[in-house]
Amino acid sequence: MKLVSFESAGKTGIGCVDDGGAVHDISGVPGMASDLVSLIARGDELLPKIEAAFGQGDLPVVEESRLLAPIPNPMRNIFCVGKNYHAHAEEFHKSGFDSTGGDTAIPEVPIIFTKATTSVIGPEDSIPASSDATNSVDYEGEFTVVIGKGGHRIPKDRAYDHVFGYLIVNDVTSRVIQKRHGQWVLGKSMDGFCPMGPWLVTADEVGEIGHLRLATRVNGELRQEASLQDLIFDVPTLIATISDCISLLPGDLIATGTPPGVGIGFSPPKFLKPGDEVTVTIDKLGSLHNPVH
Ligand code: MG
Repeated sequence: MKLVSFESAGKTGIGCVDDGGAVHDISGVPGMASDLVSLIARGDELLPKIEAAFGQGDLPVVEESRLLAPIPNPMRNIFCVGKNYHAHAEEFHKSGFDSTGGDTAIPEVPIIFTKATTSVIGPEDSIPASSDATNSVDYEGEFTVVIGKGGHRIPKDRAYDHVFGYLIVNDVTSRVIQKRHGQWVLGKSMDGFCPMGPWLVTADEVGEIGHLRLATRVNGELRQEASLQDLIFDVPTLIATISDCISLLPGDLIATGTPPGVGIGFSPPKFLKPGDEVTVTIDKLGSLHNPVH
């Protein structure tokens, strides 16, 4: 099932999307939550109700709706993973923008950082590249895990029991600010630097993730293309690593890192500029499109 947050006639709501792309309002389902994080926390109870109502044709289509980020107001920062594809780790290490130190590009353990909740924007919202005075804004298409059932010290072999679903994040980054401050949070957390969407796809609809492919295009030009099989640290390892230190909560987001082909991988770098358009596509998760201003 594809779940969305939407705005229509000045009001926000949550819904599901059919195969034709139409948004159906789920607020009439008995006992329904008012936002997707609350729905996720009660997923075992609410998902069967939504599926039953959808199957019976009981969910009205929302006319004139605009999609928001599926989780427009996360409860806390988005967890992210640095250098998690072999080829991107090499590319970033050689770019001159890597402040993590060390002689080798490939990390021995996952590098975890976060993006501020206020960086989240939705599909078709503009990425505010002009707000970065250093003119070094880059894209990073990323497969992102949405946690369902929370947990502390989740073992790898139980990790998928805690996954509610998946969505696409563009981990937009100011490269100069990322490097200047050593720690990456500032360069990755500027307002509008976390496009998310277009919908949240439940884990049962996605199934096995290892064969999924990710592609990022800028103005139609293919920049990133990779399989999730190229991840250095897989989803169970990331869930186990983070939850070993921090209890994961329903609705938490883990952006799993980006493959090669980011702007700083080119010589000279290809930074985003006003007028550009970025599209991140992942099998079964759809396409996240954002203009740049
Ligand atoms: Mg990233």
